[in-house]
Amino acid sequence: MTVFSTNGPQSDPTVQPVPASVVAQVDAADSTLSNPKQAVVSLGSNLGNRLETLQGAIDALEDTPGLRVKAVSPVYETEPWGVEPGTQPSYLNAVVLIRTTLPPSSLLERGQAIEEAFERVRDERWGSRTIDVDILTYADVVSDDPLLTLPHPRAHQRAFVLAPWHDVDPQAQVPGQGPVAELLTDVGRGGVRPRADLELRLPE
Ligand code: ATP
Ligand code: CA
Ligand code: CA
Repeated sequence: MTVFSTNGPQSDPTVQPVPASVVAQVDAADSTLSNPKQAVVSLGSNLGNRLETLQGAIDALEDTPGLRVKAVSPVYETEPWGVEPGTQPSYLNAVVLIRTTLPPSSLLERGQAIEEAFERVRDERWGSRTIDVDILTYADVVSDDPLLTLPHPRAHQRAFVLAPWHDVDPQAQVPGQGPVAELLTDVGRGGVRPRADLELRLPE
């Protein structure tokens, strides 16, 4: 057997050594690629054909390279949050569990591209929208970056997030906040109504 030395005097002088920092970055990207992470995404719509739009967003998530939708919650009809009662149409909300090799920033970009595709208009804060795609959690990542805060900073206060999340993953934990089941008990189910007559499909 011939043993080749890669760094001895006979090594190829035209091959430049790769700096350790680059090797570390490539290794990190590699481990994400071969090691999909679980993320939880919340969807909400209060304009247009709300159910069709929610399903369209779920299908668009599934169509994303490196992303699989693993579970889809029941649908809830909910009162708009953070605005004067009666000033906006009610929402349909759902939560989906995904596994993805995308890093958090790319998952956020993908969610925003889906919002654009459904012609979401951003004017006032918490204004009506065809679709809102929020990342509730990404693995156990905790971040206070305003561009992508993880877990979602208001998820633990919102029955329209916690109720469908609990349905689809009763054991779910919110990093730094505790079990979804307990948060839901604390918040209560006021303002959210299950719509068993409406169903979202898990993409095939
Ligand atoms: P809320 O964040 O209270 O649910 P919203 O969904 O109406 O309100 P948007 O206008 O959709 O708010 O988003 C405002 C910004 O929030 C986005 O541009 C995005 O950069 C940022 N953001 C921070 N954390 C998250 C997250 N976890 N998921 C989605 N967007 C986030
Ligand atoms: Ca939101
Ligand atoms: Ca949002």
